[in-house]
Amino acid sequence: MNLERLRGRAQAFTEDVSREGYLAYSGLKPEAALQAIYARYPDILSDETLGGCLGRFRDAAEGSEDARAARMMLEWQVEARVGRQLASLDEREVALENESVIRVADGRVIPYQRAAIDIANSSDAGDREAIDTARARVVEESFAPLRLERLERELDAVEAMDIAPGYNATFETVSGLSLVSLGAECEAFLRDTASMWDSVLNERLRAFGIARGEATRADSLALFRLREFDDAFPESVMESVIRRNCSEMGLDATAAGHITLDIGDRPGKRPRAFCSPVRIPEEVYLVLRPHGGQADYGTFLHELGHALHFANARADYPFEYRWLGDNSVTEGYAMLFDHRMQQREWLLRYTGLDRNRTGAFLRLAGFEELHFVRRYCAKFLYEVQVYGGGVGWKSLPDMYVEMLAAATGFRYRRADAFIDLDSRFYSTRYLRAWQLQSLLDEGLVNRFNEDWWRNPAAGPWIVGELFSEGQRETAGEVARRAAGADLSFAPLTRKIEALLSS
Ligand SMILES: [Zn+2]
Repeated sequence: MNLERLRGRAQAFTEDVSREGYLAYSGLKPEAALQAIYARYPDILSDETLGGCLGRFRDAAEGSEDARAARMMLEWQVEARVGRQLASLDEREVALENESVIRVADGRVIPYQRAAIDIANSSDAGDREAIDTARARVVEESFAPLRLERLERELDAVEAMDIAPGYNATFETVSGLSLVSLGAECEAFLRDTASMWDSVLNERLRAFGIARGEATRADSLALFRLREFDDAFPESVMESVIRRNCSEMGLDATAAGHITLDIGDRPGKRPRAFCSPVRIPEEVYLVLRPHGGQADYGTFLHELGHALHFANARADYPFEYRWLGDNSVTEGYAMLFDHRMQQREWLLRYTGLDRNRTGAFLRLAGFEELHFVRRYCAKFLYEVQVYGGGVGWKSLPDMYVEMLAAATGFRYRRADAFIDLDSRFYSTRYLRAWQLQSLLDEGLVNRFNEDWWRNPAAGPWIVGELFSEGQRETAGEVARRAAGADLSFAPLTRKIEALLSS
């Protein structure tokens, strides 16, 4: 198949999958008809097409635009072919998520999708434990076996493509990212921040009235919910406040109508917010199910960063640069937006916090940030073991509980070992994004001052220099071009230290 035809068909396919995901995960459709979509595109998922993409990737001159695009197309081929093998399981999972309920020991029956929200909003440790025990039972009975089967199929499908020896080597080949060096960075970050984490965790648990050895992951959901600040983050004005922030930095929050905000409550809507670019740049959906309080503001900002990125991508760019590439870039832009919640002057301007409370809020933001980065480091290191194939399935739950507890200090459940997992090392994208956003922020401060987020020249610069490029460049290239520095955890660690001493 020639490249132009492949691009056209691949884009049509990707748009169909994205639209179906948007409808199913936002609760507008009870099921996702994924298999039917795959069945309509046998030509782009044939062995000949994979062979063609592999040949183009191997023949392209190093450092050329051809090499960039060929790598992206090959990575997409791997993803789409694996997706086809997993489509029936993913359909089953969507249906299960929508119909499953959890039965708490006291007789309450809660939709599975609401469990995390109810746990976060419960101020009683015993109650959180009861809901989480009921949730874990459903996970053990239905979701974990499904995910284990998915994992086995995913590994088989990747190995059958014979691009490199094994899943991890294939990921490194098609993404250009080294798992070994990122793993070493994560281990160093965990080591370097261990004593800082230890002391801040002890302090927070004391304030929360939980003994150090007793703290669970369910407690962590409530701990980071920060209900004591709910009054400063009213849901009723969230959209208008963030729209005002956008216009003050010279951005249109809907990108000339390209972005649709879907931020109300709806049964069947996933608790985890997401952004669906159904057509890039013309049709982008931001979907959020409100949990309440500051977390919603952060989530909204995050998804808006994604939405603005996709909705401002250059329409004349080829399919690969608009749709594919290194997702650390879009996650980095999303985090650049959500990290405004760590900025004192931003909080004073756009939220109900006053000077007396911002210090306490920022210290908690530092606590949350350190927790999330440490959790993702551990998750990634665990995923390298899962996909590396050197550890038996039966040993993974204990390994999961041990690695996550060591990094976070919270007790994890064995039941979650196969559901708290990102396919195709998506966790690497978040880790790179954390590094990228702190450099981009520094770069913007240098160009537009500390309050770049209300400088009317900053938005157009971000659109012109960052968003419009889609994902043509990797996160490392964006960091060097926009901030003149290489990605590392160093600026992030400095920022967390500053937050904790606010
Ligand atoms: Zn994101």
